[in-house]
Amino acid sequence: MKFSEFEGKITKITDYSHDGKSVAKVFNVDIDGVKLDFLPGQFVMISAGNVPSPIDPSRLKYSSMSICSAPHQKGLIELCIRMPDHPGVSKYLKEHAKTGEKIKFKGPFGTFRMVEEQSAVVFVATGTGIAPLMSMLRHLLHKNFSGKIWFFYGCRSNDDFLYKKELMECQKKHENFELHASFSKAMLEGRMGYIQEIVKNHVFPEDKAGIHAYVCGNPVSVQQQTETLKDKGFEEKSLHFEKW
Ligand SMILES: Cc1cc2nc3c(=O)[nH]c(=O)nc-3n(C[C@H](O)[C@H](O)[C@H](O)COP(=O)(O)OP(=O)(O)OC[C@H]3O[C@@H](n4cnc5c(N)ncnc54)[C@H](O)[C@@H]3O)c2cc1C
Repeated sequence: MKFSEFEGKITKITDYSHDGKSVAKVFNVDIDGVKLDFLPGQFVMISAGNVPSPIDPSRLKYSSMSICSAPHQKGLIELCIRMPDHPGVSKYLKEHAKTGEKIKFKGPFGTFRMVEEQSAVVFVATGTGIAPLMSMLRHLLHKNFSGKIWFFYGCRSNDDFLYKKELMECQKKHENFELHASFSKAMLEGRMGYIQEIVKNHVFPEDKAGIHAYVCGNPVSVQQQTETLKDKGFEEKSLHFEKW
């Protein structure tokens, strides 16, 4: 797949805040006119606000961000970005981004993708690790995937439950979709605790042939989730993950 360089304009920003502090933002970026071929799970490199590269300040800093939108959502790239306090592209977007702002892209890149043949899917994410899984989920539902989809999501509280509305709607609309959310810091509408406990206690089918699991999040969390899935009988070849 060829990578290209292009620009887009932010058309919508959704802010997720906890205790008055922005935790993550979802950016809808209009790339109208750009034909971008990508696979669900891939990422782009983004640059914004002329933030310079720390290695070579005469060049722009580009940071890796997963694509949350699905390939059928033509003309759109959706990004879900953690809002840190240290300098970088994310901090620039946290403090300055507004609709109309331009984003520079390079991409698509990455090998975190779904296999072509799968009978059922397990998604496990923490925090903004949900980003590439949203692209995969949207793609599967668009293609009327009829196998079971288990979606496990761990965040701190109801406030930073990214894509809550869309996931709850999926749960209502698609009989094959099962959502399990856990909140590590607050008990609100769900269960308190860590998502690996929920995955650990979940009863998956005895026969796991054809079931593929996709895991994304911070390195510690991904390690825990994949170990848990292995303990539950998932074979290594059916576990796919990306750690940031
Ligand atoms: C394939 C892939 C996909 C990804 N997808 C996403 C995604 O969808 N959403 C998302 O939010 N993230 C994603 N990430 C993670 C994201 O790329 C990194 O968090 C990236 O570092 C953010 O870039 P930045 O420009 O905002 O800041 P950084 O590059 O993290 O930081 C800029 C500068 O700040 C300094 N710095 C870094 N950390 C600290 C610190 N803790 N304290 C003080 N100074 C510091 C460094 O000197 C650095 O040069 C992904 C990563 C990969 C590899």
